[in-house]
Amino acid sequence: MSLLQLPTRRLLSQAHCALKPRPSKQQRFCLQMARPSSNMADFREAFARAKHIAIITGAGVSAESGVPTFRGAGGLWRKWQAQELATPEAFARNPSRVWEFYHYRREVMLSKQPNPAHVAIAECERRLSKQGRSVVVITQNIDELHRKAGTKHLLEIHGSLFKTRCTNCGNVAADYRSPICPALAGKGAPDPEIEDAAIPVEELPRCEEDGCNGLLRPHVVWFGEALDAEVLAEVEKELDMCDLCVVVGTSSVVYPAAMFAPQVSSRGVPVAEFNMEATPATDRFRFHFAGPCGTTLPPALARHHTELIA
Ligand SMILES: [Zn+2]
Repeated sequence: MSLLQLPTRRLLSQAHCALKPRPSKQQRFCLQMARPSSNMADFREAFARAKHIAIITGAGVSAESGVPTFRGAGGLWRKWQAQELATPEAFARNPSRVWEFYHYRREVMLSKQPNPAHVAIAECERRLSKQGRSVVVITQNIDELHRKAGTKHLLEIHGSLFKTRCTNCGNVAADYRSPICPALAGKGAPDPEIEDAAIPVEELPRCEEDGCNGLLRPHVVWFGEALDAEVLAEVEKELDMCDLCVVVGTSSVVYPAAMFAPQVSSRGVPVAEFNMEATPATDRFRFHFAGPCGTTLPPALARHHTELIA
């Protein structure tokens, strides 16, 4: 089934829920029979043959660079988890608080660097492009660490901390300023006792398009919002074309790999997971490599001896 044929409601629910579809009797039989390989030499054979590699990355890759996610136990900003602030309703109620949260997340990124997994992915793309082979990175991460590492072909399905979108004219713009506006300077501290800065809405980031001056919002996909149709169409194209799929830092029962990797696997294309631990979905795929992806991924994507152009 094509992604674009999925009804929006299902896309939305897949976007923000862990997926654990109950396997059919036949699938259960297959799951019991199949075991993914963790044989690196076999993966390297598939890697050497691949012309179009799709790399799907999730929160685990960012976590190894120390990027906070504000989800799960202890993952609070002031009194809230990301799910309570990253919504259109929260922004409508209190745009100042939501902007403080995103300002803080942007500022935190000034001190974070790509880790060896980001670097290995970018280096692989640079090297393979000289050989007429392609690498695309499909990521749910909004921190731009892939871009910072040098990745060129990047599909950010959740948008970016460093882009804004005008709530009036819809203009999307890259914005790396620190702070993004004078009123947010020194604001956004995460400690639970900090009071809202209650910045007047006219002093929050505003659109600089001629005569607009609309309120800007972070260009990220919030809970309850649909993914960008153009980005999804690009993802679909890449998934249809790839002849090797690498899933990094996200388990295959959790979005986004849960949406994308099984689609690729069902075409008979090898899928390799690089993740801290195996999950019930792991057995659907050809390869699984357990451990921190900063350790497991670099040797997997390094130059193969059959690559004549480095
Ligand atoms: Zn505007």
